Amino acid sequence: MQQADVAGDLEKVLVTEEQIAGRLAELAEQIAADYEGRDLLLVGVLKGAVMVMADLSRALRIHVDMDWMAVSSYGSGTKSSGVVRILKDLDRDISGRHVLVVEDIIDSGLTLSWLLANLRSRQPASLEVAALLRKPEAAKVDVDVRYVGFDIPEEFVVGYGLDYAEKYRNLPFVGTLAPHVYR
Ligand code: 5GP
Ligand code: MG
Ligand code: MG
Repeated sequence: MQQADVAGDLEKVLVTEEQIAGRLAELAEQIAADYEGRDLLLVGVLKGAVMVMADLSRALRIHVDMDWMAVSSYGSGTKSSGVVRILKDLDRDISGRHVLVVEDIIDSGLTLSWLLANLRSRQPASLEVAALLRKPEAAKVDVDVRYVGFDIPEEFVVGYGLDYAEKYRNLPFVGTLAPHVYR
């Protein structure tokens, strides 16, 4: 499948490649300033956060360690179930570490609040969150996301790590799917 065919499945582009790069550079500057002189561990949440992790970490001018977790919350649908399962845990202990969770998108916030409670119980020195995208629903739950790329409308989006049935993760931008894709 060619890139043009993939893009043909989209209704519209919501956040362009340039906008993502620009915003991640801003966040990276903020993060570098906030964590200066500290030992920072980035925890990427697979698989959606792969692109954010790759680009955000490369924009950071400080030393970081990286680790990954894989959790499942959605099953095959497009709504969060609230039931979270660890598919892959961190490789190392995080007690006493400054941990920044790197997420693709916060929708209901259920996955994130579960994840934060889980990580907090491992006693990190600090625990914060950076997410590329945030939907309006997220405002209803009490999760404090310190670094947010973009607030977007209540729509199902794909691209830049985000999938629909495991596809579209490789699009370099974020967009919404055309209705014909669902049929
Ligand atoms: P939450 O628990 O906050 O509702 O959802 C968390 C996870 O659901 C995200 O990490 C992401 O994997 C998935 N998700 C939420 N909204 C969207 C969306 O608009 N598009 C895609 N592709 N995945 C989403
Ligand atoms: Mg995610
Ligand atoms: Mg998904």
